Parts: sequence; C-alpha cells; structure tokens
Amino acid sequence: MTQDFETDSRQMLGRLRAVMAEDAAGQQRLDKITTLIAEEMRTEVCSIYLFRDEDTLELCATEGLNPGAVHETRMKLGEGLVGRVARTGKIINTDDAPGTRGFRYMPETGEEAYSAFLGVPIQRLGEMLGVLVVQSKDARSYSDDEIYALEVVAMVIAEMAELGAFVGEGAAMSARHQQPVLFRGTGGQEGAAQGHVWLHEPRVVVTNPIADDPHRELERLRESVDELRIGVDRMLSNAASGDKDQLQVLEAYRMFANSKGWLRRMEEDISRGLSAEAAVEKEQSTARARMGQVSDAYLRDRLHDLDDLSNRLLRILTGQGTLTGADMPADPILIARNIGPAELLDYGRALKGIVLEEGSVGSHAAIVARALAIPLVIHASRITTEALNGDHILVDGDQGAVHLRPDDTVVSAFRDKMAMQAQAQERYASIRDKPAETLCGQRITLKMNAGLMADLPSLKSSGAEGVGLFRTELQFLIRNHMPKRAELSELYARVMDAAGDMRVVFRTLDIGSDKVLPYMKAVDEPNPALGWRAVRVGLDKPGVMRMQLQALIRAAAGRSLTIMFPFVAQREEFTAARAEMDKALERERILGHPLPESLEVGAMLETPSLAFAPDSFYREVDFLSIGGNDLKQFFFAADRENELVRRRYDTLNVSFLNFLENIVQRCAVTDTRLSFCGEDAGRPIEAACLAAIGIRSLSMRPASIGPVKSILRRTDLTELRTVIDDASARGDQSVRPAVMEYLRGKL
Ligand code: PEP
Ligand code: MG
Repeated sequence: MTQDFETDSRQMLGRLRAVMAEDAAGQQRLDKITTLIAEEMRTEVCSIYLFRDEDTLELCATEGLNPGAVHETRMKLGEGLVGRVARTGKIINTDDAPGTRGFRYMPETGEEAYSAFLGVPIQRLGEMLGVLVVQSKDARSYSDDEIYALEVVAMVIAEMAELGAFVGEGAAMSARHQQPVLFRGTGGQEGAAQGHVWLHEPRVVVTNPIADDPHRELERLRESVDELRIGVDRMLSNAASGDKDQLQVLEAYRMFANSKGWLRRMEEDISRGLSAEAAVEKEQSTARARMGQVSDAYLRDRLHDLDDLSNRLLRILTGQGTLTGADMPADPILIARNIGPAELLDYGRALKGIVLEEGSVGSHAAIVARALAIPLVIHASRITTEALNGDHILVDGDQGAVHLRPDDTVVSAFRDKMAMQAQAQERYASIRDKPAETLCGQRITLKMNAGLMADLPSLKSSGAEGVGLFRTELQFLIRNHMPKRAELSELYARVMDAAGDMRVVFRTLDIGSDKVLPYMKAVDEPNPALGWRAVRVGLDKPGVMRMQLQALIRAAAGRSLTIMFPFVAQREEFTAARAEMDKALERERILGHPLPESLEVGAMLETPSLAFAPDSFYREVDFLSIGGNDLKQFFFAADRENELVRRRYDTLNVSFLNFLENIVQRCAVTDTRLSFCGEDAGRPIEAACLAAIGIRSLSMRPASIGPVKSILRRTDLTELRTVIDDASARGDQSVRPAVMEYLRGKL
C-alpha cells in the first residue's frame, strides 16, 4: 500500500463527508456521491443499487449510465452481476463484464460500452443493503487498493443509510428503522404484550464513520484495544475454573483481542480514512458475513465471539456502555440475541415481553420466562439489528409474532386481543377462591408447577392448591456452579414456608437430555433424550442425589415431605432410588436432624414402559405423576424439542387417550394416587379431557389455573366422556374436533 494511495483514499472520504454534511435532498446526495466516486477513482461509471424489497434491487443513482434508467432499472437478487454480488456478498472484479458468467444486458442503461466492472456489497453488520459499482471502458482489472477503497466507501454509504441520510423518493431504504416490520418466530410463552423496546445489549451507533484526524483515530483504537485486553484478562482471572465452556469463550476472546491481524486490518482502515469505530465495524461486518456462510458449529461460535468482542470494543470507543444513560421504558419489551436465565431473573417481572433471535422452547431463558409468565417469542431473526431502543413493539407469544413499529390497524387489532385477555383475567380472578368443581359435581385438584423463587408469589395469586411439580433442576441450571447443600436446604425451606399447609412435590434433579448443567462435564450422547438423564444419572452417580435428599430432609425440619423421582423406566430404579432416600433418612437421624413427620415418595410416569410395570410397582409407590411432555414424545416417537415434529401428534389422539386411560385404570385397581403434570394439564381443552378420562389432579403453570378452572366449572364430565367415547367408536384419529364442537355449544 503506498502512502499516496492512502492520501487519495482519505481525500475521497473527506469529500464524501462534505457531501453528506450538505443540506441536500436524498436523491441529490446520492447523485453527488456517485459523481464524486467516479471522479476520485478515475472511472467512467459509478452506480448505487439499493434493495427495493427483499429480493429486488433498483438502480438509485448513477454517474455515467443513462440517467433515465435511474429508478427504472431493477433486477432480482442473484440476477446479473449486481444481483450476484448482492446474493453472495462477494466482490466481482472483471475486465470483461459482458463475457462474465451471469452478465445480464440492460439496454436502457447503455452499459454495453463498458468492459471493466467492479461491484462491492453495501452491507452493515452482515445485512445486505445494496451494491456499489464502478465500470470503465478499457478492459482493466481494478487493483487491490481500488477494491479496498471502494469497500470502504460502501461501508460509509451503509452507515449513512443506517442514519437515514438518504431520504429521497424512490430510494429503496429510505428511513429504515422507521418502517413497521413483522417478525415471525416461535412462541416460547403465551400471552400478548405491548410496550417499548429495551435492548439487552444496545447497538452502538456510529455517527462519525470518517476520520477527522487519522493519527488521533489510531491512538483511540490502540488505547481502546488495550482497555479491552485488560478487561478480558480480568474476566479470565475471575472466571470459575470448573466452567470449561466459559473459559473456552474467554480464551477465544483473549486470542482475538491479541490478534495482530485483527488490529492491523483496523489500523489500515483508519489510515485510509475511516474513524476508529467504523474500522471496528468493518471488521465486524466481515465476520458477520462469514457467520452466515459457515456451517461448522464450532467456527460459528468463534465468529459469534469475535462479534461480541467487537461490540465490547465499540462500547469502549464510543463510551456507549450497556448503561447508555437511556432510561428503561415503563413497559419494556426486552430484545436480545440470547440471554442467560440469571440475567433474565435480574430483570424479573419488570419486563412486559421478551423477544430473542436465538434460544429454544426448552432453553433456560424460556423456562424463566414461563415462570414469570412473560410472553416470549424466540427465533425472531434479525430483530436485534432492526429494533432501536424505545421503538413501539407488540409481542404475540401465542402466534410467535412480533410487530415492530406497528401501524395503527395492527395496533388496534392487537389492543382488542389484549382487552379480551384482560377480561378473561378478570373472570379467572373472580373464581380464584372457588373450587374446580365440574357441573357433574366432580372435584378436580389444580396445583401449580414451579422451580424458581420467582414462582412463589403465584402460589397465592393463582389459586393453586399446592405445588404438584417443583422442578429442582432449575436451581442448578440458573447457576454457574453446583449449589451447596446448605444453600439448597435454605431454599427448599423457603418454598415449604411459602406453601404453608399445602403440599409441595419436590422432584429430584432431572438433568440430561436438553437440561445440561453448565458446570458438569457434558457427555456426548448420540441421542440425549433417550440417554443418561434424570434418575439414571442420580443412581449411577449418587453423590448429588444424596446431597439433595439431605437438603430436602433438613428443609422439612420435621414437617411433611413429598418427593418424586423423574424418568423412572422400571421398578428396580424406583426401588433403588427409594433405598437412597431411606439411607438419607437414617444418616440424618444419626446426625440428630429431625425427620419428616410424614413422607411420601412417588415416581414420574414418563416412559411407556412404566405404564406396563407389574402391579407390585404400582403398590410400591406412594403416588404417580404422569409427565406428559416426555411420555408423549416417547409414545409417538416425536422429539419434543424438534420443531419439525413436535406438534405433529395431538394429545387428544385416540391412541394416546386410550393409553392414558389404561394408566388410570391400573391406578384405580392398585389404589395408587395419580396426577398429571405435563404442559397439557394447563391447556383447557386437554385438561377437561384428562379429567373426563378419570385424572383427578392436574399440575400446571400458574397462569393456566384460571383458564382450566373456568372450563372445568362449566363442563359436565359425564357428557364429555360420552363425546370422547363416541368419537373413539367412530374411529376419529383425534377426539379434538368432536370435543371442540361439544364445548362450543356449552361454553
Ligand atoms: C414432563 O415430562 O411432562 C415433565 C413434567 O417433566 P419436564 O417437562 O421437566 O421434562
Ligand atoms: Mg419430563
């Protein structure tokens, strides 16, 4: 790279900035930019193509092509050389454009006269905004320096677009970030919420892409990189030594932060006229573009790390920390790429809704969102780049839809939906202290599922008659270290205190499958859902189970205690687990701790095998609780985490109902108490059907208790039972249509 070239490039950016600063209309400004670039790069043609919609590019300004073609010439993504640059994000540099594969002749532009073609993508942080092209008559290849200069200019143009600098009629991306956008993701927690965007990690806005004083910019960059390195070293020395994943990420941070290549490329960008922030962002854009192309999960993670590191560096440079000084709106909807459960708990119930780009239905963040009953949408791709702090936003957790900056018609339809929900809530509140008694006089016990301290207030507000499932693993999942016995015991005691006379069914640690403890060595299993999980881990490595049983006995401190073992697949597993409990009681007795005044030990029925276990098993357990989420996935052989199949089979499928009824009958014969604690217990129609086939105790998330009670109180189970039997006798695949029809007439 020659000093001259750097000076040229800086000069071009300096002139570009002067144009941007002029008080000109959008189109005029674009025209001036193309003229300026053509002059500076000594080429005959310079054109800017911008996206008109998702897959159409439009010629928005040109120097050298036929001016009449501006806003007339359009091409599809992938069409012609320009379309190819936009589709692939890769530069095309050729001395013979017409002879290059994919060239498409656009007669209206008059471009047949030009042989050499250089097209570079205009993109910001991995998002394609358009294509910048220069062309010339003589058959020459553009030099590396020229390519580089054009890329830098494209980046500045992208930055300007971001700031809404091209607000001209016809300019395709005018006033982006002001337009309504609909995101279709996946619902993670039901409910509708309206509010204003609160970015978990606010985007850094680069307002000065062009350097005033390159020496000063270089200094700023180096100082900030030093600060970044010190920060990463500090994080490393504070990191828990047992947390391999965290250490791996931090090591990767350190490697990038010390990478000479990374720093050198940014320094070069600055010497060519970019500001320090713009130089960081240029590298970040390149990494994001690569992220989209890499399929290897490990490499993608590393590119994510580089992206995070760039964000940190930008925050240091601009002083826009996570605390930007902006006030959290009164009705915040949290937007994040992903978020850990502990961070989410920090926000707590202040949030009205949550939208994530990544995550999964079974992720820990989703579990916390559910516990807090905050509507959640996951897989809202690109929302962190589209949303700005304070934007108006609507979250529909039922449909998995998010409306960013919605227009009035959407807002009013949404308000109607929210009003209906609010009315329903009032109805539920009015029956909170009434029993779940059906029209035929059958009492159904409704309990709540819990697992976090954040759940406890719901014990009172929901009208639950106890905790039918306390998922103890959540306390393990939200920490980055193994909780201590005393810590657990204190926590379980608080849960029992909050429940008072009501029973809490503590389920022992259910890890494995989708629930992986961050601080335990992950086992690489070909099929984790069928793998080493729950009671299997507890029995093979009893240390943690023993500690947990002790903590539970100590928490009970002489009160009644109820525990249940998850994922029991055969009688011997229950017998062995129960023996661990007896040993724990004996140990505690010897140590002088008070023993529970009464103890109930049950099992979760989550594998079809247990439904067919010998009668002696049914007699051995104090109670059974059907874990419908797992049971259903094994019954239908359909992974509950796999979006492709998880909704494929209906819970009200006749085969599944027959199977459940068989369990009900076996429990009746052996006099075994039975409840149901999977998600279906909280779905009103499903809950009514479960009651109709004889399940008398249901445990669900707290927010479902109102709706389920409401439907039960208006249902005659004998009639519903007849509807189910008739549908079954007719050979219906699912009883749902018949049940819906019946309920529609009744409710
Ligand atoms: C179930 O499988 O239905 C259940 C309640 O357990 P989890 O969802 O925690 O696996
Ligand atoms: Mg389960």
